[in-house]
Amino acid sequence: MKKTRGREVLMSTESRDSEVIRKKRETEKQTVNSMIAVYCHGKHGTKRGALCPECRALAEYASLRTDRCPFMETKTFCSACKVHCYSREMQEKIKAVMRYAGPRMLFVHPVLAVRHLKVTIQQKRMEKI
Ligand code: SF4
Ligand SMILES: [Zn+2]
Repeated sequence: MKKTRGREVLMSTESRDSEVIRKKRETEKQTVNSMIAVYCHGKHGTKRGALCPECRALAEYASLRTDRCPFMETKTFCSACKVHCYSREMQEKIKAVMRYAGPRMLFVHPVLAVRHLKVTIQQKRMEKI
């Protein structure tokens, strides 16, 4: 009886963890999509929230990378990742998006923008050590 209860507790913890990771993946995908949309609107003149074919391809690529990311449990942002699984071409594109949309996100998503800034500063400090 006790053993069964222990297994039940373990199973519910596992499913809760998966749910947390699943939500984290979804949040990251939405955030990156928002940043690409900000970039596309500013750089490619698309309507707010819409994506041109090139930016749509980048958003789909980034979403797939997030789906397959093995560090989802512990990661902060891809910019802080030592592995960086993006192809060189896509890495350049997403960097351009982050550079452009990052400061502008302060008006679109202030909480996320501040968190991103904090992680970037921490990362730069660690690189200097
Ligand atoms: S760059 Fe790193 S953190 Fe980002 S999706 Fe790829 S492996 Fe995960
Ligand atoms: Zn675009």
